[in-house]
Amino acid sequence: MTIKPSQLKQTQQNQDKNAINHYDVVIIGGAMVGSVLALGLEQLTKRHNKTLDIAIIEAFAPSSDHPGFDARAIALAHGSIQALTQLDIWQHISELGTAIKHIHISDRGHFGMTELDANSFNIASMGEVIELNPVGYKLFKELQKSSIDIICPAKLDKIEANDEFHHVKLDSGQVLTTKLIVAADGAQSSVRMQFNLPQEEIDFKKTALIANISLQKSHKNRAWERFTNSGPLALLPMSPSNGQQRLSMVWALDPDNAELMKQATKPVFLNSLQQAFGFRAGQFIDVGERYSYPLKLTYMPRPIHHRCLFVGNAAQTLHPIAGQGFNLGLRDIMGVLDVIEHALIENLPMGNVAMTHAYLKAREKDRMNTINRVEFLVRGFSNDLWPLTLGRNLGLRLLSWLPPLKAPIASKAMGFTTDTIL
Ligand SMILES: Cc1cc2nc3c(=O)[nH]c(=O)nc-3n(C[C@H](O)[C@H](O)[C@H](O)COP(=O)(O)OP(=O)(O)OC[C@H]3O[C@@H](n4cnc5c(N)ncnc54)[C@H](O)[C@@H]3O)c2cc1C
Repeated sequence: MTIKPSQLKQTQQNQDKNAINHYDVVIIGGAMVGSVLALGLEQLTKRHNKTLDIAIIEAFAPSSDHPGFDARAIALAHGSIQALTQLDIWQHISELGTAIKHIHISDRGHFGMTELDANSFNIASMGEVIELNPVGYKLFKELQKSSIDIICPAKLDKIEANDEFHHVKLDSGQVLTTKLIVAADGAQSSVRMQFNLPQEEIDFKKTALIANISLQKSHKNRAWERFTNSGPLALLPMSPSNGQQRLSMVWALDPDNAELMKQATKPVFLNSLQQAFGFRAGQFIDVGERYSYPLKLTYMPRPIHHRCLFVGNAAQTLHPIAGQGFNLGLRDIMGVLDVIEHALIENLPMGNVAMTHAYLKAREKDRMNTINRVEFLVRGFSNDLWPLTLGRNLGLRLLSWLPPLKAPIASKAMGFTTDTIL
C-alpha cells in the first residue's frame, strides 16, 4: 500500500509557501524514532494539559520504498515494550508483534552454548519482534489523528541559526521557525551536516545480509544467535505468513561473501545457511528477498547543538546484530521527553542551553556503555583468535551453568533486557 501525498492529512500549518509557520519543536525525520517521539510529545502535552506547536518533517510518505520502514524486522527489548506502553503506542502496534520466549546463543565449532528462557525470569517474553513496514503505516495513522503538523513528503534544505530560534527551509521553499529542532534523520543526518558537527565512524568491513526464512517446523517463539567464523548470525521469530513459519535473519559476512550469498540461487543459499547454523531450528525451506547493509558504527561524540538535540540513528548507528539500535533510540526519546516535561512543568523556555545540556548529560553514560558493548560484542565474536575463542566459549558455558548470571549477559549480548532499562 502507498499513501499518496493527496491522501495525507491537511495539517493546521499555513499552506502558503511565503508564510512562515512558528513552532516550539520541529522533528526532522519521521521513521521509527521521529514518529515515536512525536506521538510521545503529543501524549506528554495532553497529560500536562499544555500546548506545544509541533511539526514533523519526513522525506517519504508511507510506502514500500520508505527507507525507515522497510522490510526489516527488529527485536524490541522487554523494557522498550514497557516504554512504548507508557507512551500509549504499543497498544496500536502490539498485534504486529511476535513474542520472544527463549533465546539460544551458541558458537559454531566450539563447545560454548547458553539458553535463556522468559519463564525463568518470571516474564511473559524477553521481547517482541516487529516488522517495520506495517508498523510504519500504523504510526503514521496515529500521527494523522494527532494535533501535530505532518509535513510530508518534504526534505530539510537549510537551517539558519538565530539566538532565539532556527529558520528551517524545506526543499519546497517553505520556511518554518522553531525554538527546538530534534534531529531524527538517520545516520546521514542532514541536520548534523548543516551544523558541520563531527561524527565518529568504525567500519567493521562486514556486510549484514538480511532475509526472511521459512521453516519446516514451528519456531516456538525462539530467537537464536550463533557466532560463526565469518561473524554473528541472528534469527528472530516472526508471525506466520501464508501458513508458513518464518524467521528474520541477520547474517554478518565478509562483503564478498555477502554478495555471493545475496546472488546465490535459493537452494545454494539455503544449503549454506543450514551448514552455518545447523538444524536447531529444523529445516530452512524458503528464503524471501535478500538485502544487504554495510556494517558500520557511527556516533556523534556530542549529540547536541544550539537549540538542537540528536536522537536515534542520527545520534548513533549501531551494528544491527546486537539488536540495540531502536532500543537505544527509544531511550534517547525518553531523554528528550524528560527534558521537555521538566520545561513544561517549570514553565521554562523551550530549547535553551540548560535543556540541551541536561539532555547531553542524561544520555552520556547509557550511550557510551551501549556503543562500547556493541563494539566489544561484534569484535569479540567475529574473531577466531584462540584466546578470544576460548574466552567466549568459557563465558557461554559458565552462563549455562550459572543461570542467575544470565540476566545481565542477556541484555549485553542481544539487547534484550529482563529488567527495566529505561
Ligand atoms: C538489518 C537491521 C536489523 C536491526 N535490528 C534491530 C533490532 O533487532 N533491534 C533494534 O532495537 N534495532 C535494530 N535495528 C536498528 C533500527 O532499525 C534502527 O535503529 C531504527 O530503525 C532507526 O530509526 P531512526 O528513525 O533513528 O532512523 P532512520 O530509520 O534512518 O530514519 C531516518 C528518517 O529521516 C528521514 N530523513 C532523512 N533526511 C531527511 C531530510 N533531510 N528531510 C526530511 N527527512 C529526512 C528519512 O527519510 C528516514 O525516514 C536494526 C537495523 C538493521 C539495519
